[in-house]
Formats: sequence, C-alpha cells, structure tokens
Amino acid sequence: MENVNRRTVLTWLGTATAAAASASTTLAQTKPAQTKPAQTKPAAPAIGRNLPDITVLGAGAFGVWTALCLRERGANVTLLDSYGAGNARQASGDETRMIRCAYGDREIYSRWAKEAFALWHQRQAEFKRRLIFVNGVLGPNVRQSEFEAQQRIYKKLDIPFETLSADECKKRWPQGGFEGDTNAFYEPNAGTVKAREALIAATEVFVQKGGTYKIGMATLGASAGGKMTSLKLADGATMSTGMAIFACGPWLPTALPNLLNNFIRRTRSEIFYVGSPPGDLSYHWERFPNILFGGGGYALSDVDYGYKVAPSGPGTLTIDPDRDERIVSPIMWEMARRFVAHRTPGLVGQPVVASRVCNLENSDNEHFIIDTHPELANVWIAGGGSGHGFKMGPKTGEYIADRICATADPVEEKALFALSSHKAFGGGPLLRG
Ligand SMILES: Cc1cc2nc3c(=O)[nH]c(=O)nc-3n(C[C@H](O)[C@H](O)[C@H](O)COP(=O)(O)OP(=O)(O)OC[C@H]3O[C@@H](n4cnc5c(N)ncnc54)[C@H](O)[C@@H]3O)c2cc1C
Repeated sequence: MENVNRRTVLTWLGTATAAAASASTTLAQTKPAQTKPAQTKPAAPAIGRNLPDITVLGAGAFGVWTALCLRERGANVTLLDSYGAGNARQASGDETRMIRCAYGDREIYSRWAKEAFALWHQRQAEFKRRLIFVNGVLGPNVRQSEFEAQQRIYKKLDIPFETLSADECKKRWPQGGFEGDTNAFYEPNAGTVKAREALIAATEVFVQKGGTYKIGMATLGASAGGKMTSLKLADGATMSTGMAIFACGPWLPTALPNLLNNFIRRTRSEIFYVGSPPGDLSYHWERFPNILFGGGGYALSDVDYGYKVAPSGPGTLTIDPDRDERIVSPIMWEMARRFVAHRTPGLVGQPVVASRVCNLENSDNEHFIIDTHPELANVWIAGGGSGHGFKMGPKTGEYIADRICATADPVEEKALFALSSHKAFGGGPLLRG
C-alpha cells in the first residue's frame, strides 16, 4: 500500500466530496405488547424467575441480543439506546456484516462463530425475515501459520473448507481477478448477515415478547453496599433498576469513564457500496463470494445494495462517535477503486451508490469484554467487539443470559473476557481525524 503522510490524509479528509452515509431509520418507540415470551429455549430455570428487573444500555449487536435472550428467560427487561437500534453512529449500524469461522489459531471464536451460524439460521426462521446470505468467504494469500491453524481447527470442528489455487478461483468465478494469488482459503458456508435490519428485527421481536424499548441515554446513578441502586438519565432524572448491562460499544469509555477510560480504541473505517450494472448479477451474493484482502481490507458481495468495499487505510484515525461528520474521504475511495480494478474488473467505472463511515471499537487484545463491574455487583459490561462482534450477536446474547441466570459459565470464556484480562491502551500513535 502506498505511503501517505498524516498531513496529506487530513487534507484529503478535510476536502472530502464523496457522499455521506445514508440516513438511518430507527424503530418507533413501541408500547410493549403484553404477550408471553416465546419458548425458543428450554423453559426458564427456577433462578430465572427470580431475576431482577434489568436495563440494557445500548441497542447494538451486544445489547439487543442480550436483551432478547434475557426477556426469553423471563426477566423484565428495558432496552435503552441514545439514538435507536441500528442507528448510523453505532458500530453495528451498517447494512451488512461478514460471518465466517476463520480466526487463525483462536479456536474459541471459530467454535462461537459455528454456533452463531446455527442461531442466525434459527432466528431468521423465527423472525420470518431474510437475514443471512450464504455466498462463501474467500481469503487469498493467508499467512502460512494462520492457514495451517485454520485447516486444523476447521477439521476438528467439522467446518467445511477448501483450499484453492488462483487458477481454480478463476475457473469458479471468471468475473473475478485473482492474478498473483496463492493458497486461497475458502469457507463455502460462510457469508453475509444483514446488520441494521437484523437489529431492528430482533428489537421488534423483543418488544413483541414483552420487553420495553426506549430511546434514551443513561449513566451510573447512585450506589450503596457494593451495588448500583439507580441510573441517571440524560435529563437528570433517575431510573431505578435491579441490574444494568452497559453494552455501549464505542461509548463504553464515555459511559463508565472511571473504569474503562482508554479500554476501547475507537477508529474510523470507511465503506463504499459500488453499484452493479442494471440487472447484472455478476457480483451479487448468489454468484460471487466475499473476499478478504491484506492489511484488514475486505469486500462483501452485493446484497441488493451495491458491492461493498472496505479498504484498509494508510493509517489509523480515531473517531468521536457522537460528534464527527460521517463523510468519506477521496483517499479511501482511491484505495477502494484499486481493489475494484484488481478483484472485480466488471465494476470499473460503476458509481459509488452509498457510503458509510463506521467506528470500530477495539479492545487491547481484540477479545470481548464481558464481566461485572469490579465494585458494583449488579452492573455488567459487554462489548469490545473488535471488528468481529456482530456475527456473534445471537451467541453472545445467550452467553450473557446464561451467565446472569447462572445456567452456564464456561471457564475459558470467563477468563478471556474478564476485565482483568484487558488493559488500557497507552495512547499509541493514532492520528486524530
Ligand atoms: C467497519 C466495521 C466492519 C465490521 N465488520 C464486521 C464483520 O464483518 N463481522 C463481524 O462479526 N463484526 C464486524 N464488525 C464488528 C461489529 O460490527 C461490532 O463489534 C459490533 O457491531 C459492536 O456492537 P456493540 O453492541 O458493542 O456496539 P454498537 O453497535 O456501537 O452499539 C452500542 C449502542 O450503545 C448506545 N449507547 C452508547 N452509550 C449509551 C448510553 N449511555 N445509554 C444508552 N445507550 C447508549 C449507542 O447509541 C449504540 O447504539 C465490524 C465493525 C466495523 C466498525
């Protein structure tokens, strides 16, 4: 990738002309329906009937699924979000996210992703809404060590994969560009999930099952005896609740500043949807896989919204999730354009039909943070999705509900996600956009 200095990046950003992200729609605030939660799981355990009333702060991938799973186990749950489920500022708020099991040697996430896949298919059937698209994910030029680890783990977990040469890729997808590639790792059952649509659907189902959903922002209020006794709302009012789950994504350091300051690094990521020619399915999900490319960039096939290109940039820019303008930059479009010319030559000259500026919310080691507050036993933290948290949503929701209901508490996950396994960033060499 070409070397571009900080001044150039900032100048380009300042003179960005490309289209801003399209406006979000949020769920209308809905009065909770007085229906019983559906039994998608075995009957709630006895302890579930003694659950406190729970407030989940944040209607992103972590919060929505947690709220839904806890409601299904019989808890009285309120889901609160500053801007709404699927809003354009949240880390989850794009059209689509990739779902795959490849994690190099981090087997635990391959296992989670496999379980999440099954849950996505179940939820899709339950919600009666198309949310998951199995178009395969192709990773050309994977590092040898990662390649070997993935093969070993996929065999162990019985996840289908293929290894393909550039010639085999060209034969299978003649519309693609694979020149110079070696050892592509292909996961045929992987694919794409609709992101904001899934969150909106899950929130609607949560409300149908008796959950309460509101737009609103809250922070910690009063506490006594090692427990939080109330939350403080943005207008200064207090709200009492038996338990709070802070699933605030990039806002975790803002919501719990004394505890999480610098625990999440918030960085900017730009996404371009390149339009397919009219009636042309060449790069549509039925005919073309998602492609990963070096340095963290990737592309997702067209799911009726455009061919999605997320280029890796020349540097890392931080983002203020509340205040920054979400306007894409010419330099990142140039990076995306190069990808298109290489991988999808049939799209050269096609216009960008939509764009997004997203914020990533990375933990120091890219493991999730799921734990109780060290000083307040009834306050939970859930986040640190680190660029891979969306696909896990349905599984994460079940996992957090299991821990809160004390129905399961796997040792490996508990240790990995513990706050004590993470540390604050030291303020590394990030550029401020
Ligand atoms: C560009 C990009 C690409 C990605 N690609 C993938 C991918 O392909 N596959 C994958 O699995 N993952 C991917 N991820 C990661 C994944 O999208 C995130 O990890 C996940 O969506 C984060 O969800 P979250 O619930 O933690 O945060 P968010 O989605 O940001 O939700 C947090 C919510 O909390 C609300 N909030 C904040 N503070 C408060 C408060 N005090 N009170 C009430 N509400 C509050 C906010 O309004 C927000 O809606 C990607 C992320 C990005 C940015």
